[in-house]
Amino acid sequence: MNGKPAILGGTAAFPEPLPRYISTGEREANAALRVLQMGILSEFLGSPGPLFDGGTQVRTLEERWAEYFGVRHAVSLNSGTSGLHAAVVAVDAGVGDEVIVPPMTMSATATAVVMAGASPVFVDVDEATCCIDPARVEAAIGPRTKAIIAVNLFGGPAKLSQLRCLADDRGIALIEDNAQGAAGRCDGRLLGTIGHLGVFSLNRHKTIQCGEGGMVVTDDAHMARRLRLVRNHGENVIEANGWREDEDIVGFNYRLTEPQAAIAAVQLERLEELTARRIEVADALSRELRRFSCLRVPETADGDRHVFYVYPLWVDAVRAGMSKDVFAQAMIAEGAPVAPRYVRPLYHLPLFQRLIAHGAAFVREPDGRCPVAERTWSDTLLYTTLIQVPGGRDLVGAFAAAVERILDHAAEIRALDDAAEIRTR
Ligand SMILES: *Cc1c(COP(=O)(O)O)cnc(C)c1O
Repeated sequence: MNGKPAILGGTAAFPEPLPRYISTGEREANAALRVLQMGILSEFLGSPGPLFDGGTQVRTLEERWAEYFGVRHAVSLNSGTSGLHAAVVAVDAGVGDEVIVPPMTMSATATAVVMAGASPVFVDVDEATCCIDPARVEAAIGPRTKAIIAVNLFGGPAKLSQLRCLADDRGIALIEDNAQGAAGRCDGRLLGTIGHLGVFSLNRHKTIQCGEGGMVVTDDAHMARRLRLVRNHGENVIEANGWREDEDIVGFNYRLTEPQAAIAAVQLERLEELTARRIEVADALSRELRRFSCLRVPETADGDRHVFYVYPLWVDAVRAGMSKDVFAQAMIAEGAPVAPRYVRPLYHLPLFQRLIAHGAAFVREPDGRCPVAERTWSDTLLYTTLIQVPGGRDLVGAFAAAVERILDHAAEIRALDDAAEIRTR
């Protein structure tokens, strides 16, 4: 227990590769097989008529999703990314419009805006949650602002009640990018249902999945119609349906297949079970890690629920006696499932630095635009996927013991770092 940390030549806390996380099982396999045996793998038609909205599995999934989340409309798509794009079109943001987004998120949050021809405006996050900061959002709203996209990062809620009030007040839309937060809550309400639109991902890395897939929920009938038009070659049905106000729609093929929908329906039934498992590990981890004064663990307010897509952890380098990156490398040397950094603030991407997208209506984003996101990315935030590792609950003790060994040897580790023997990004 009091031996050396692995980075100094001690025995690793996790010497064997950790088992791979597979969230699907027998039930999903049977559901998919039943559909395969029927042989109807998709029933969408890109023309007027009942099949414009898809086949049996797709519709069943959407009905159940709407019921589970207590919303009027749930529209499935082939990814969260296409869901975000469709959501931006649904709120009528296009060329000449601006959409406020956080920089600390998966790139699709911002590229969805570009796909619709609008300009993303990056607004900094708040330190405690890493989600977009309502005060800064308010200051960034201008005459061209059409919407705010708030990301419930890592599965924890953004300040959604505040953002929804702000959006309603200013006559703009709030879109929740809830790709990471299915079954999470904010002020007692399910994430995804607080904005005018909520976007989910069913990608295999997310908390529930069907390989690739997405869902958008809304109570607004007109927005729901626009989502369906973007999903399935909407230009072909505008005339027959007399939907003159939606003539601007350019449709895509964003359709989910029938076997995927059948798998997703089973995963939805298992959402609570799969989520509870992650939360149990996360709670155990927080209980163990709170005793280290150099670490800050994720805290949830009353009425909120964090679902831990990943488990974020903030390091105080001064107290730890080593930088966050060095601490993370020491944990990685232990075999712990730790990533030293989440994505770099998005405006650093060449797309947003060099204005090379079609239309190119957005403005150049200087480095340092969002100082909290920058500092968090480089200096304080790391995350672990221990919450999803099978049997992760039993590994929490070893994880905390590794942290202790590393902190106990801070001076030696720092010396190694000074000698440039630790590779950090
Ligand atoms: C995964 C993710 C997306 C994209 O979802 P896909 O289904 O992979 O297209 C969008 N936003 C966030 C925050 C995500 O984590």
